[in-house]
Amino acid sequence: MPPDNPATYSENYNELVAKEKLGYMLDYAKTSTVATIVAPLLCIPLYSDNTPELLFKSWLVLMAIVVLVRLQLIRVIKASSDINHKFTLLNIAVGSVTFVWGLGWFIFVIAKDPISYLLYQIICLTILFVGMVGYCVNWKTFCAFIVPLKGLEIIFLVMNYQHIIWPISVGSMVAFYLALKMGFLFSKSWERSFSLRLKNDTLYEELVVEKNASIAANIAKSEFIATASHDLRQPMQAINIFIEMIDHRQLKEYESSVFHRIRKSVSVLNKMFNTLLDISKLDSNLKPIETQFSLALMANDLRHSFADLCQEKGLGLAFTFEDVLIQGDPHLTEQILRNLLSNAIQYTDRGSIQVNFENDQGHLNFSVQDTGCGIPPTDMSLIFNEFYRSDHSRSHHDGLGLGLSIVIRIVKKIGGECAVASEVDKGSKFTIKTPFLVLKSLESPSTALSLSAKPFTNWVDASIRNAANKVSKSSLHVGIIENDDSLRDAYLQYFTTAGYQVCEIPHQEDKFNAYLQDIPKLNFILSDFRLGEKDGIFYIQQLREEFNDEIPACIVTADTSPQHLEMFKQHNIHVLHKPIDIQDIEEFILQQTFSSH
Ligand code: ADP
Repeated sequence: MPPDNPATYSENYNELVAKEKLGYMLDYAKTSTVATIVAPLLCIPLYSDNTPELLFKSWLVLMAIVVLVRLQLIRVIKASSDINHKFTLLNIAVGSVTFVWGLGWFIFVIAKDPISYLLYQIICLTILFVGMVGYCVNWKTFCAFIVPLKGLEIIFLVMNYQHIIWPISVGSMVAFYLALKMGFLFSKSWERSFSLRLKNDTLYEELVVEKNASIAANIAKSEFIATASHDLRQPMQAINIFIEMIDHRQLKEYESSVFHRIRKSVSVLNKMFNTLLDISKLDSNLKPIETQFSLALMANDLRHSFADLCQEKGLGLAFTFEDVLIQGDPHLTEQILRNLLSNAIQYTDRGSIQVNFENDQGHLNFSVQDTGCGIPPTDMSLIFNEFYRSDHSRSHHDGLGLGLSIVIRIVKKIGGECAVASEVDKGSKFTIKTPFLVLKSLESPSTALSLSAKPFTNWVDASIRNAANKVSKSSLHVGIIENDDSLRDAYLQYFTTAGYQVCEIPHQEDKFNAYLQDIPKLNFILSDFRLGEKDGIFYIQQLREEFNDEIPACIVTADTSPQHLEMFKQHNIHVLHKPIDIQDIEEFILQQTFSSH
């Protein structure tokens, strides 16, 4: 980076400045070539009559020679590699032309004739200002340009001092002095502005490098999270299913209490996996999907989900809301609330949690307030960072430090705002402003059920479950493609026991093709993603083609990479992530088959 003070130029910086100056002056010298040719020609009508012919022609010839030399030198400068040599050549090129102009004082000017003197004075001043524009970026080149012109003028003045009109000569010398001074100052200020430009360029380059590095780091982080959690999800899924299959009522007291502890720990692990999954989803091109939903049903469902946790800790839980319809993304809203609520419960030992929904000039705002340990002022700016966990509250809970970063990323995605107010040992309040519209009051919750279009949330599940109960499970053919033996057995056992018609579909291509001959019409396909040579998408597409029907399908996978999420979406295949409760899978199947009935 160039130094602040040009006096402390580094070697590298000096070279950059020299190159930039040379480039500028060479460009100028090239574009002013025409002027160096035309200007002497203009002297023909001015001086040819009053100047001895031989002298005049000799001056013209000399001028032609120096113009040609100048042209040649400019070419040589380009080819030369030594920067100092280049400057010397340029100084000779510009100085030789002005030297011939300087000789003009002795050839064209009649000292006793003020008009002749004035006329050449004007020509010289014009040359001086033209040179100033082009060469004063470099002090020495400007001197090489101006000194031959003005130096010869001084000699002329000294030789003809008794005839000269002194006020004009003094004015000319003052102009000469000012030109030198301006040239010097301009050269310095040019160097300063160049130094600033270099600094800007360097800063900009550093910014670009840092930005690219942070993008790369973010991608690497997503890939790491996806890969690291992938291998763990697979066995977790089997554990989840087998835990669900244990009938704890048959267990003795001690085994039953151990079983409940295992279940609780597994549920904490599931939550952690789901948090990682939320991050992966936010890294993919997740966009808010707006629909109409009932605020009352969402609030009641949240109250229902968190009531037990609050009761266990002896905390109060209160919701205030109106029974209104919201136009917005219910899933993202719920995700924010779930994260804020579980934090509020985790970081509160006594008192209560208050959730408020408000209509703020037609837009939905909500807040989650607790009476917990609070957040120290020094942590306020850090808590939304990924993986940040405050020491102040570390003893309360073993989290990943991702909850609030998920909240803030969703809030940004929906175009909302998030504010937090907190006092240590008194409590915290997180307030979210959303752009979601509050539509109208509802007459009855059932209206909301029919208006809620989003699948697979508990607050719409009531209607789905009712309808699904009417559809006999024994009439539903569920195709299962899974290469993990224990998982496949668990699925088959669970769904057969639950009364479905289950088809075990082979995942080897030859066996699959043979199986296609006598397969019944499927109502739903449940598949793993990685199945060996071919993946779940391939088999689902084959089955859809066979029946010429867009059969609802779902891939249950441990893979959370944003690219794969996008691919499932493109093929209209739902995705559920391992680990997931088998009841949730069943509920999803019912919802999907019901909505396609
Ligand atoms: P985690 O809860 O897993 O540690 P979060 O991203 O949800 O991660 O929260 C980051 C940090 O913010 C927490 O470690 C905690 O220190 C602080 N925090 C979040 N919510 C609250 C709250 N309601 N009360 C006190 N501290 C909180």
